[in-house]
Amino acid sequence: MSLTFGQIQKTSLIDYPGEVASTLFTVGCNFRCPFCYNRSLVLPEEYPPQRITPEQAILELSKRKKYVQAAVITGGEPTIHEELPWFIESLKKEGIKVKLDTNGSNPKMLTELFSKKLLDYVAMDIKSSLDSYDEATGVQIDIAQIKESAQLIQSSAVPYEFRTTVVPGLHNLDTMERIGKWLNGANKYILQPFTAEGGTLDRTYSGKAPFRPQELTALLNVVKPYFKEATIREYY
Ligand code: SF4
Repeated sequence: MSLTFGQIQKTSLIDYPGEVASTLFTVGCNFRCPFCYNRSLVLPEEYPPQRITPEQAILELSKRKKYVQAAVITGGEPTIHEELPWFIESLKKEGIKVKLDTNGSNPKMLTELFSKKLLDYVAMDIKSSLDSYDEATGVQIDIAQIKESAQLIQSSAVPYEFRTTVVPGLHNLDTMERIGKWLNGANKYILQPFTAEGGTLDRTYSGKAPFRPQELTALLNVVKPYFKEATIREYY
């Protein structure tokens, strides 16, 4: 599948910490997280979206760089597309800062992006503890790739965050403890409450209630000691 975008959100104040950014949503994903609410990006054959080509996206962002000088590339999963380094390089040539959101399944591409200094910020989804990844992602995971990506990000000089969308039935206090032990010492960790709005990949998740605020706080309190900074982000 070649790189295309299902949507460009022209202005976002929340996707790139400290920046006003445009957010670009790539089409296609190699995971099938049951709680995912991006059906149209993950299963584009079900909902043929309006496709935006990389060339159109570069043109659009370069026209608007007087107002917005940062981009968030999210998905779907951006790193499944081999044209991604070329695309980011083109944005950087326009003077646009780039944040990448990834599920961590392609450490080889992350290595290339880091070595070419193409990233200004990275956010990696931590789907669950290492022993529960298959259940949380709906596919068989090569867990070594996930570990390698987290390690690369943690040891890079680029600002980063790890984040987990927490879902009742998939995550609990024990999961949080295991995640903390895995990523011990990392800079920043965010908990995002699951929301069923917009329809989930696995329809049985559409009726699920999210964690209540006091439950989220309990989950956060378990991971807090392992990170320099750990918070709850409520906008998802
Ligand atoms: S939530 Fe999972 S399935 Fe959905 S886009 Fe992210 S990685 Fe892909």
